[in-house]
Amino acid sequence: MGGEWTGHPMERVTRAVTAGRPTGPGATLNTPPVLASTFRDGGDIGYGRHDNPTWQALESAVAALEDGAGAVAFGSGQAATAALLAGLPAGARVVGPAVGYLGTRGLLGELAAAGALRVELVDVTDTVAVTAALGGPDPARLLWLESPTNPLLGLADLPGLCAAARAVGAVSVVDNTFATPMRQRPLTLGADLVVHSATKFIGGHSDLLLGLVVGVDGAAVEAIRARRTSTGSVPGVFEAFLALRGLRTLAVRLDRAEAGAVELARRLAGHPLVDTVHFPGLAVGETAARLAAQADGPGAIVAFEVGGADGRAAGERVLAALQLVVPTTSLGGVETTLDLRVRWPGEDPARPGLLRMSVGLEDVEDIWADLDRALDTGVATAGPVRQRVTG
Ligand SMILES: *Cc1c(COP(=O)(O)O)cnc(C)c1O
Repeated sequence: MGGEWTGHPMERVTRAVTAGRPTGPGATLNTPPVLASTFRDGGDIGYGRHDNPTWQALESAVAALEDGAGAVAFGSGQAATAALLAGLPAGARVVGPAVGYLGTRGLLGELAAAGALRVELVDVTDTVAVTAALGGPDPARLLWLESPTNPLLGLADLPGLCAAARAVGAVSVVDNTFATPMRQRPLTLGADLVVHSATKFIGGHSDLLLGLVVGVDGAAVEAIRARRTSTGSVPGVFEAFLALRGLRTLAVRLDRAEAGAVELARRLAGHPLVDTVHFPGLAVGETAARLAAQADGPGAIVAFEVGGADGRAAGERVLAALQLVVPTTSLGGVETTLDLRVRWPGEDPARPGLLRMSVGLEDVEDIWADLDRALDTGVATAGPVRQRVTG
């Protein structure tokens, strides 16, 4: 008994469990952390900065989940982003997201200031604006997309925009950190490359930093691997081991966290002390159609705004009142976290009370009790007591 799978195409949740495992009699079920800088001559790996069996296990599993030709692991999501941008010719034009991960926007800004790239940031939810920015007499070389966007959870039309990039000869990159391959496969929607901060949902336990690039074309993937070697932006071996361990439970973690996010977003939208809720699962009309067309679910990140013009102070009081939800910036872990975005330079000062919540695996009633009480403590004291609407 045993051998290669011969059934129907394997479901993605099954692949999350099986991909990237050693095979053969006597093999360990998991590739262990191979803690080595040096390998004896005669094998596949010349030196520990070039490759590592533990990285390979993680990379092949992520490539299988993203339907990619291959993947390259980096020391962080930011290192993966930097490696991709470093591959562009000097002065190349890049179109990126005006609302998007701050680290990406910051790096694009630095490269533009240094004259290395010319960068145009646009609203990626506006397909007409992105398409216009890509084209013209001096077309863009790279389109950088996030969907859902950080922190406003806006949706970009991935098939439409990746096709528009291809039409002008630009490479399209999608940061798939928020959706994860369990909810969205950009390479099957026309993207050339996917970037992950595996620090977030893939790792899933707030205990490691790691990034990944996945590509639809094997030669492009190998060029990126060569750049990792030349720049030395390699991941730690133990981090790669832990990220793959996290990936094994990604499907079940995301199912639970997303179900919590759907319920909490619904309750927040009906909460009298909440001004606005941003969540793909609450979208209607064209945005809802976009979600249905390109993703398998809304994910587990919810943003909401409190306090109106006094939002910063109100948001700070909400964070201070939390007893269960952790006030911090990162996301995608088993713990529910809440971050007041305006404290980060570069985030929109016109949204002073914008809170971004990463829903974890706690009981949803416990999370709600904590949020509801923190909102009552933090926001109600900001102004006249408002009447609570029920039902
Ligand atoms: C965190 C994050 C990154 C950067 O990843 P690091 O692992 O922190 O370097 C990139 N994109 C998104 C959407 C992120 O949330």
